[in-house]
Amino acid sequence: MARPTKALISKSAIIHNFNVVQQFAPHSKNLAIVKANAYGHGSIVVANILNPLVNAFGVSCIEEALEIRNAGVDKPILLLEGVFSKDEIAVAADNDFWIMISNQLQSKWLVESRISKAINVWLKVDTGMHRLGLMNEEAIKVYAELNNSNNVNEGIVLATHFSSADEQDYQDTKIQIQKFKQVQSSLINHLNSDAKIQCSVANSAAIMAWPDSRLEWNRPGFMLYGNSPLLSESNYADKLKPAMTMQSEIISIRSIEKGESVGYNKVWTAERQSKIATVAIGYGDGYPQSAKSGTPTLVNGVIAPLAGKVSMDMITIDVTDISNVSVGATVILWGEGLSVNEVAKCSNTSGYEILARLPNRTPTVLVE
Ligand SMILES: *Cc1c(COP(=O)(O)O)cnc(C)c1O
Repeated sequence: MARPTKALISKSAIIHNFNVVQQFAPHSKNLAIVKANAYGHGSIVVANILNPLVNAFGVSCIEEALEIRNAGVDKPILLLEGVFSKDEIAVAADNDFWIMISNQLQSKWLVESRISKAINVWLKVDTGMHRLGLMNEEAIKVYAELNNSNNVNEGIVLATHFSSADEQDYQDTKIQIQKFKQVQSSLINHLNSDAKIQCSVANSAAIMAWPDSRLEWNRPGFMLYGNSPLLSESNYADKLKPAMTMQSEIISIRSIEKGESVGYNKVWTAERQSKIATVAIGYGDGYPQSAKSGTPTLVNGVIAPLAGKVSMDMITIDVTDISNVSVGATVILWGEGLSVNEVAKCSNTSGYEILARLPNRTPTVLVE
């Protein structure tokens, strides 16, 4: 007695995908990225599964960090966007959060705070993404300022982020790695020390496609959830297992004549006599409204194409060619056998966006 729409979250798939991360980069430590409710999979559930396995977690802000800390996660948690105001520094110190510093103001707040204990800091360098991070001389100046502060623990990690690691043919990633190494060596010169500086540059795409980017710390996100971030086909992608199966059920079936149309604005018209099934999922559940007719769904393991516009609570699919379809049959919208990336392609969006936008209305159910 419940609406049958739900996202099954597979514990074994998440652990499998983490093992794949380690196979790609056996010598790196891992900061598992669980921002945006763990890409829609449920950050408390996912972080608790990964807590025994990973070295640390990454989230976008202190609210996300507190959510998983209060749910029992005891590993360090890095705030990827740092702090948004000075008062967050003390909260971070009290809760063993690490802070990404990406500008002079954040550095000043940290150095000038009175805090209970020193904080672990990562320093973000801008090597071409031009979104966050310090450039060249500025990075060296801020590193030195933080390095001299009693509020900062030893071993500041130097980090950067790639703009295009998902494009395997595009050489920009190599240029960013080169620029990063230049900043690292000027820093070593400047500090006049031979202490090794720990570095972190790789997101999922870089872990998979750019071996030179696998440094002391990697930052896997999307691939932990079993989806390939790479824009072109890659057999690396086959190693991953989708952690989420989005499913619902057929709640109505009808036959329509050739020439009749289905759904709002009648955008899909039957080219033959057709069997149309209505499924209890819509854009209010996170299924993209921009999905075009023809977007695949799976019924009894067979592809059933979307027919007509996506409604808020329902979609209609063409099951003419599928035998033994009845009300109550399970429909898979994405998961094993149907990548969320494929649904995204049919909807002019990315798998990342579909997952990160899943609403609270859609329950997640943990399965082994
Ligand atoms: C989100 C994020 C990641 C993870 O990226 P994926 O493509 O999901 O692996 C890594 N680093 C930073 C700074 C991020 O914001």
